[in-house]
Amino acid sequence: MKALVYVDVGKVEIRDVEKPQIESDEVLIKTKFATICGTDENISEGKFPAKTGVILGHEASGIVEEVGKSVPNMKPGEPVICAPYLVCGRCLPCRAGRYNVCMNRKHLGIEVDGLFAEYFKLPGYAVYPAPPGMSLEEGALVEPASVAYHAVRRTSPTPSDSVVIFGAGRIGLLVLQSVAAFGCQRIIVSELIGRRLPLAEKLGAHRVVNPQNENLKEIVKEETDGKGVDIVMEAAGIPETIAETVELVRSAGKICLIGIPENPVEFDFMTLVRREIDIVTSDASLIGYEKTHELVAKKIIDVRPLITHTFHFEDISKAFEVAKGQEALKVLIEFPD
Ligand SMILES: [Zn+2]
Ligand SMILES: [Zn+2]
Repeated sequence: MKALVYVDVGKVEIRDVEKPQIESDEVLIKTKFATICGTDENISEGKFPAKTGVILGHEASGIVEEVGKSVPNMKPGEPVICAPYLVCGRCLPCRAGRYNVCMNRKHLGIEVDGLFAEYFKLPGYAVYPAPPGMSLEEGALVEPASVAYHAVRRTSPTPSDSVVIFGAGRIGLLVLQSVAAFGCQRIIVSELIGRRLPLAEKLGAHRVVNPQNENLKEIVKEETDGKGVDIVMEAAGIPETIAETVELVRSAGKICLIGIPENPVEFDFMTLVRREIDIVTSDASLIGYEKTHELVAKKIIDVRPLITHTFHFEDISKAFEVAKGQEALKVLIEFPD
């Protein structure tokens, strides 16, 4: 079968590889749709390490091709969505239901073969039926939607909370819809790329700010009677915006860090401590959390407006080029029947 392989630092290419053989606890899936994530781009550019020879990709949907003997309740032909990492089920975080930070976690497309391939395999626990009302195009985006929803859930928002979201990119727009799904109505989105702001408005932001032209701090003051917002969600991963979170949140408010900066960040810990601000962090997703599947299926988290481009698998290198541009949000890859 054909697969996109990480050959060496900064070099990826489509190669002919063996079709995966499944063990009794695994499922073989015929890939239907996949999406390109920032991690894939960083690996392809040599900015993020991956195992040499690994098949890239970790966001996809597909059709069950073969089911291992010990996998319950699954049959060939079934449309499915997937969690993109392997967990041990035995470490403390796993046992506490926080398997997204399993101490023995292995990521698809980084340490083990991913799913930019005609077929891929996963343990049964990482494969879920696509719920009614969800297309497989949407199914490929359940993973990033779960990343966003998980991050928001970590802050336990209530409908009266005011929220600032840094970033209206792929994750930021999903964070926005997740915050809205919790009933929050006062949501301010800050984004430097101006053309993303109308979509943020359409997807639930009550105010959008381009910090190049407007003073976010003043706007937050104005919107909150000078108090600061209840929650700041940082999905941009820029050192300056991470540092700024502490200036926007009220005393005893919450900051959630999702974006990952490339460099260390200077942070005002004095203010953080003196005002008892909680910092929570969020990594990966609890994709098995069925609430997210339901929210995507019901378009409460609508992933469709995020799909800006579609390419056939054979044109995946072109797709990577487009995904790096500012015009792209999610680039969808369609696999042959
Ligand atoms: Zn991803
Ligand atoms: Zn574990």
